[in-house]
Amino acid sequence: MNAKTPNISRLGKPEKRYSYASWTTPSHTVYMMGMSPHRSPKGVFASEVYKDDFKCWSDRLNIPDISFKGFVPELWLSTFLKKNGYRTGALVSMPVLNQTTVLNQSFDEYALMPKHNDFNAILDRLVFPNDTPSFYLLNVGETHYPYALPHEGENTLPRIHGVHGVFKHLDDFIDREGSNGNGGTKEDEFFSMNQMAELKEKQRTNIEYLDKLFEKLYDLVPQNTHILVTADHGELFGEEGYFGHGPIFHEKVFEVPFVEGKIK
Ligand SMILES: [Zn+2]
Repeated sequence: MNAKTPNISRLGKPEKRYSYASWTTPSHTVYMMGMSPHRSPKGVFASEVYKDDFKCWSDRLNIPDISFKGFVPELWLSTFLKKNGYRTGALVSMPVLNQTTVLNQSFDEYALMPKHNDFNAILDRLVFPNDTPSFYLLNVGETHYPYALPHEGENTLPRIHGVHGVFKHLDDFIDREGSNGNGGTKEDEFFSMNQMAELKEKQRTNIEYLDKLFEKLYDLVPQNTHILVTADHGELFGEEGYFGHGPIFHEKVFEVPFVEGKIK
């Protein structure tokens, strides 16, 4: 069953699209180049798809005639936005996107949040100066393994062998992201189908939790804010023997939801 997202759906009807990558860093990099998750259209040249994709920035930003060329030579969204007078900010939850990585270019503010799973804390940090248009890249982690909410301690997490406490150390976390996302060492047993079903259900519950926070986001953003909600990759829960994302070649790991629009 799909997660119920009445608040996110106020932006428009969520669509099934595909990310350009199966893992966090390359996927965010492509998005920051100004490209959105694609529809995998047949019978068209890639250049036409990119052209149409970049045109969408004109609607999003209310700047006429934006094209791929407009992003040249840097091909970087925040650089383009800064040239157009925007204040740019990034508040990220995943340590692999931290402020020392290549992603941090042309940002006025870029911070790795203290917790990997606290969208509410991200919302509390948003600032919107009156006289300047703003852009924010917000990366949430409640949807990431182990699908814990900020108020949930280790004891309430699904009991999976050997992975508790992985978030205590950044190094461990990066190692986990750099592996197949299951957080385990080589000695760990792979998850059973029952455990994966439980984790999938927890991820769905967490999406519904995040959806409630969108009400708060909508209250915070200035009039005429264009909001785009998507994911960097899909997540596998036992399909063809896979768990998580990253070094996986499977259609589901590229499948992401996509919705954009304005609330006020
Ligand atoms: Zn990711």
